[in-house]
Amino acid sequence: MATKLKRGFIKIEAELCKGCYLCTSVCPLNLISVSGSLNQKGYYPAQYNEKGIEIENHLCKGCALCAIICPDLAIEVYRG
Ligand code: SF4
Ligand code: SF4
Repeated sequence: MATKLKRGFIKIEAELCKGCYLCTSVCPLNLISVSGSLNQKGYYPAQYNEKGIEIENHLCKGCALCAIICPDLAIEVYRG
């Protein structure tokens, strides 16, 4: 029987992000980068690189390391 691969995705609330980039350093798959657009607080927020890609094709496993380390609770993790 085939095992279903774990897939996940995250949502980053750009207006809560203070640009510390801890999340970019902990993602084992380097799925988080830095946006080129400032948020209203004047920070360049983190952005999720798989946004807009179908979940079947995600590398994200929903491990939640990024959300756990975020000091501003700006990241929500979903598992598919
Ligand atoms: S850890 Fe949180 S506050 Fe820091 S860059 Fe990532 S989303 Fe922004
Ligand atoms: S949940 Fe895990 S794999 Fe997915 S973006 Fe966050 S740290 Fe990376």
